[in-house]
Order: sequence, then C-alpha cells, then structure tokens
Amino acid sequence: MLSPSEALAAVAAVCRPLPPRRVDLHDAVGLVLAEPIRADRDCPPFPRAMMDGYAVRLSAAGARVKVIGEAAAGRWIDDVLADGDAWEIMTGAACPPGTEAVVPKEYTTRDGDHAAMPPRMVGGQHIAPVGSECRAGEIVLPPGEPVAPMSLAVMASFGVRQVAVMPRPRLGIIITGAELAPQGVLPAPGQIRDSNGPMLAAMAQPFLAERPTVAYAVDTHESLQRALAATADCDLLALSAGVSVGRYDLVPEALRRHGAELIFHKVRQKPGKPLLLARRGRQVLFGLPGNPLACHFCFHRYAEVALRALAGRNPMPMIHEAVLTAAVPARGGRTYFVPGRAVPGTGGAPWTVEPLAGVSSADIFHSHRANCYLEVSPRPRELPAGERVALTLCDLSSLAENLATEGRLWPIGSGVPVPPEMPACRSGTPADATASPTILE
Ligand code: AMP
Ligand code: MG
Repeated sequence: MLSPSEALAAVAAVCRPLPPRRVDLHDAVGLVLAEPIRADRDCPPFPRAMMDGYAVRLSAAGARVKVIGEAAAGRWIDDVLADGDAWEIMTGAACPPGTEAVVPKEYTTRDGDHAAMPPRMVGGQHIAPVGSECRAGEIVLPPGEPVAPMSLAVMASFGVRQVAVMPRPRLGIIITGAELAPQGVLPAPGQIRDSNGPMLAAMAQPFLAERPTVAYAVDTHESLQRALAATADCDLLALSAGVSVGRYDLVPEALRRHGAELIFHKVRQKPGKPLLLARRGRQVLFGLPGNPLACHFCFHRYAEVALRALAGRNPMPMIHEAVLTAAVPARGGRTYFVPGRAVPGTGGAPWTVEPLAGVSSADIFHSHRANCYLEVSPRPRELPAGERVALTLCDLSSLAENLATEGRLWPIGSGVPVPPEMPACRSGTPADATASPTILE
C-alpha cells in the first residue's frame, strides 16, 4: 500500500499536459502558455514623457523658456527642439526630437506663452527611453506560465491576437451504486440520494471549461461498461464508490475489463484508504471511495493534482501551516487527514485551524464548514491544541471566479440520463417497478 506522498507522486507522474490549442487572447486567462511570446516592437516605441510638464533642453535650467506648442499623448512631432524653447507635454506623449528632460508642471511657473524652469535638472529626467522596458524580439512571456490578467496586458501590448495554450481537461463523473437516487429522483426504500455527484462537479468547476459528462451506473459490469463507454473521450474520469472490497465493489475489475491499467489501489490514509488510480491511453481514471467525506478528500488531494497537471500547471498542492485550536485524536498506522476551518491570524499572529472531524468517513454534516485538510502523521498520542500542523486549502475563491464567468454552478443530476437498470427510476418496491415511470421529487 502506498503512502499519501507516494500516491501523490504517482498521480503527478501519470498526468501529461494536454496537447496545446490556439485560443483567442481573452480565452487564455488562467491557462498555461504553450509558446514563448516575443515583443514585436520596442517598448516604449518612442521616448515617452512620464510626467505632465515641459519638454526642454538642459540649457533651460533656471531660465524662462518659450512654450511653442502642446505635445499631447498620441501626437507625433518632427520638429527638433531648440535651446530656449519648450513644448508643454503630457504623460504618455512622444518627446519631440532634441528633448533632454521633462520638467514636471509643479516645478514651473507659467506666464502667457512663457514658463520659468527650476534651477536644477538632470539629463533624461522623466523620460522613458525607447526600449527601456523591453526590446523588439525579446521573449516577454516564457511558456509554462499561467496567463494572468497582467500577462494578457503584455500580449495586448504586442498585438498578440491568438495564443497557444494547454487547454483545460474534460472531466467525466461516474456515480456508481444501486442505492443511489440521482438528483430530482425520489429515493426508493433502501436508497439514499446521490450527494457525491453535485459535490464533485462543484469541486471540479474551477478547473473546467465545459460542464463534466456525468453518468450513473448500478453495481453490474454491464451498467459500468455503459457508463465507461459514455465517458471514454474525457481526459480525466472520477468514479464514485464501488472501489472497496465488498461483493459489489466492481469498479477495479470493471476498469480492467475496460482496458485500463491499474497504477495503485489503496493508500495508507484516513479517510480514503480504497482510492484507486488507473490509466487508459491518455485517459486518467480515479476510483474514489463512496463515503462522501472520503470522496471529497480524495478528489481534493489527488484529482485536483491531476486536473492541474493535465492543464500544464504546477500540480502539487500548496502546503500551509496553522496552529491547532483543539486536539486531534491519535491514529496509528495511517496518515490522518482532518477537515478543518483555517482562519488568518490577526496582528501578525499565525493562522489557526479548527479541526472539524465528524463521526466517520461518511459524515459530511460536521465537516461542511471545512476550507482545508490538516495532515497528521501516524502517532500514538493525540495531537494537542497549540501544535503547528500542515494543511492544504480547498480553493473556493477560484470557484467563485468561475461562477462569475459562468453565472452559476452547473446543475448535476437533473437532465442526466438515468440508466433503465437504476432502481431509482421506479417507484417504491420491485413489485411495481415495471409499472411506474421515473418519479421526480
Ligand atoms: P462504497 O464505496 O460503494 O462502498 O460506498 C460507501 C458508502 O458511501 C456507502 O454507504 C454508500 O451508500 C455511500 N455512497 C456511495 N456513493 C454515494 C453517493 N454518490 N452519494 C452519497 N453517498 C454515497
Ligand atoms: Mg457501493
């Protein structure tokens, strides 16, 4: 059985960035550049005035000069500036030829078409020389970096209209388990509502360009193969449940029959011991435990790494440190990942984190306020309050960003075809199963 860090390394090793694609500039934000961007001209392309004031020759120091016109931003002047003359100049304007200094307006006194200059000035003051920010042909953005709004501004400065980037991966989600009623379907006796589907889709949304392909399957090989076929063109596949050792935990065998190569199964961690990683051609597949907290943790810790790696980003989770506000009970043998709520300290104090473990790996009801997972190594005694712990943050801020673009969260479940073998399609008991159509809540 792998340790959590070995499992993480295996995930990173199996994921290759997706083949680059050319997109319009405005679609590139957040994606990783796949080509170097070069300056097509010097920047600034002309000696640029950096202040509002007067363009003068150095001989104007302490003198009264004649203001011969306005050099507004956007105007091009060919006339060479002579000693004793000045142009009134605005920030961003091209300095007329012969300009040796720009004197800020506040150091001068205007009187009609003349202006008195201060006694001291330095050659080149308040002038950005041609190419002082970058030279034509220079690489201004290297490949491998995510495009931020400021990098967009860099490309816009050099007339870049389209750019090669690593695309965001396409995600498939397969919700397995005969006991699950998809969203909007009334659970039959013995069933529960699917909660992993909406959770996984929401966790994945910041990483995706398109809504995930979602399929449901009951615990039979036929049903699982159908769902696997429906999601075969996804770059990453997250299967929920059926990955443990129960009689109907068919996912590992179903993946083998589907032609996938198992990379690991089971990790020395709590929650999420049954986690599985497989590969089929370029497709990366995760078998996530069905227990909702374990499912959440495994997607956060491992599938998010894969989503970042496929998009060419730095895949490994960022580790932060915080001070525990309450003790964490001892766990022998396995690394214990505890959901927690981390808050920044005030006045220079370190971050603190409140552990929010519930009663089991199924319990999301005590943990839903969590914004991070603490990592606690196996230990014989409890970890007391006041100890420093390592944690990874669940990135809700990027979800908020994506929601701002998309308008709302993609609803998962309703509208997804429910396989006819799914008992939830039918009302209450097997006896009237054939008679009743899908019952919507
Ligand atoms: P399994 O991984 O199939 O052994 O499932 C472990 C537990 O998680 C069982 O109690 C399942 O009913 C529950 N479970 C599995 N899938 C889901 C789901 N999509 N939503 C909520 N609970 C689930
Ligand atoms: Mg199951």
